[in-house]
Amino acid sequence: MQGKIAIEEHFTLEESLNENVQFVGQSVNWSDVQRRLLDIGDLRLAEMDRHGIELAILSFMPGVQEMLDAQEAATAARQANDALAEGISRHPDRFAGFATLPMQDAEAAIIELSRCVKELGFKGAIVNGYTQRQVADFAIYYDVPEYRPFWAAMQGLDVPLYLHPRTAIQARAQAYEGHPWLISAAWGFAVETSVHALRLIGSGLFDEFPGQQVILGHLGERIPYDMWRLDHRLGKSPRGYPLEKPMSEYLRANFHLTTSGNFSDNALRCAIGEMGAERIMFSVDYPLEDTVDAASWFDGTEMAEEDRIRIGRANAIQLFKLDLN
Ligand code: ZN
Repeated sequence: MQGKIAIEEHFTLEESLNENVQFVGQSVNWSDVQRRLLDIGDLRLAEMDRHGIELAILSFMPGVQEMLDAQEAATAARQANDALAEGISRHPDRFAGFATLPMQDAEAAIIELSRCVKELGFKGAIVNGYTQRQVADFAIYYDVPEYRPFWAAMQGLDVPLYLHPRTAIQARAQAYEGHPWLISAAWGFAVETSVHALRLIGSGLFDEFPGQQVILGHLGERIPYDMWRLDHRLGKSPRGYPLEKPMSEYLRANFHLTTSGNFSDNALRCAIGEMGAERIMFSVDYPLEDTVDAASWFDGTEMAEEDRIRIGRANAIQLFKLDLN
C-alpha cells in the first residue's frame, strides 16, 4: 500500500544516544540503529520511500521521564522538541512530530505541550511511561490528581497522548529477577504499559475528559486479548473498580492502537475484533524494528481493502487532523 502514515517512529540526539540501549538490547546491529536514530533525513526518507510510507510522526527516544531533576527534564524536552521541529521544517510533507514532555512537573509539561502544539505544529505528545522525580526507585503514574490540569490542557488543545513503554522500576521488578530477557520489549513493556493504561481508565479520567484520546503501541500492549475478561471479572467482583461503565467502553471510546513492533496476523485480527478497524493505525517502531518487516506484513496481511486504507492512512488523517486526503 502506498501513502501509509506511521505513528511510532523514533529519533534521538547525540547526547541521549546511549540511553537507547535499554530499548534495543545487545543482540541487534547497534551501530546501524544508532545511525538511523540520529537521522531525520535521507536515510529515513529512503526507507519510507522503499516501503510506501508517505508521512512519519516522529518522537524522541528515550524521552525525559527518567530524569530525576524537573528542571533538567524541562530543558532536555525543549531541546529535543526544537531539534525535531528543525528536522520537520526541512521535510514538512514527510515528517510530523509528537512533543516530549517534562512530566516531573505538570505545570512545566502544560507549558511545553502548549508551545509544541501551538508554535511548532506538533500533532500530540508522547510520554515514555511513568515519570520519576527526585527518587529513582519510585514511579509516578499520570492518573494521580496532580496531572488533572495536564489532562485538561490536553483535551483543551484536542491532541492525543501516546503512552510508550519503558521497563518497570527496580522496586517493582522482583518478578523478573534472574530472567533479564523478560523485563523489556519481549514481555515487561506490555505489562508496565497496559497497567498504566488501565489505571488511567480506573481513575475516572475519561469521565472527566470524555474527548481525550490515548494511543498504545504494539497492538494494544496485550489489552485486546483480555477485554472480555476485564469486563467479565470486574462485573462479577468489582474489588474497588469505581466506574459504572465497563472498561471496554472506555477502551473503544478513548484509545487507539498501533501496529508498532507487532506484525502478527492473529494479534491484528483480535485487535480489529475488539476495538474496530477505525481505532488501529499502522506503525513500524523504526529504527528498533525493520521497516520491511512492518510494511511487507501490513501490505500483505488478509483484510478488507477499506480496512487496510483506514489502518494504513485514513484513521491517522482523522485523529491528527492532517491536511491530507
Ligand atoms: Zn517505540
